[in-house]
Amino acid sequence: MAIGELFSFREWDDTSWSVTAECRGLSAVFFPPAAERPQARERREAQAREVCNACPVMFECRDFARRNREYGFWGGESEEERHAAGYRLIAPIGVRARNIS
Ligand code: SF4
Repeated sequence: MAIGELFSFREWDDTSWSVTAECRGLSAVFFPPAAERPQARERREAQAREVCNACPVMFECRDFARRNREYGFWGGESEEERHAAGYRLIAPIGVRARNIS
């Protein structure tokens, strides 16, 4: 299967909501570094959740991430939480690949 086919379901839709995102400039809080340990992930995601809880576009962001099967922390949700809500990652990596089925 070609990579284009793998991601052909993606809906590259409106992202105008992101103009008022609280997380602008904070990508290190929302996306994990390589080889992040579980305890560090918990701390990082707790920080991200606090930012999201104060964000005026949390629901638009969450919906976008779910529909586009995004990686990282979006709309107050971790990758695991999106998976639990029925929005599975296309290609889970590392620990997630072992824990997500
Ligand atoms: S909900 Fe969170 S991830 Fe989404 S735009 Fe707001 S701060 Fe950023």
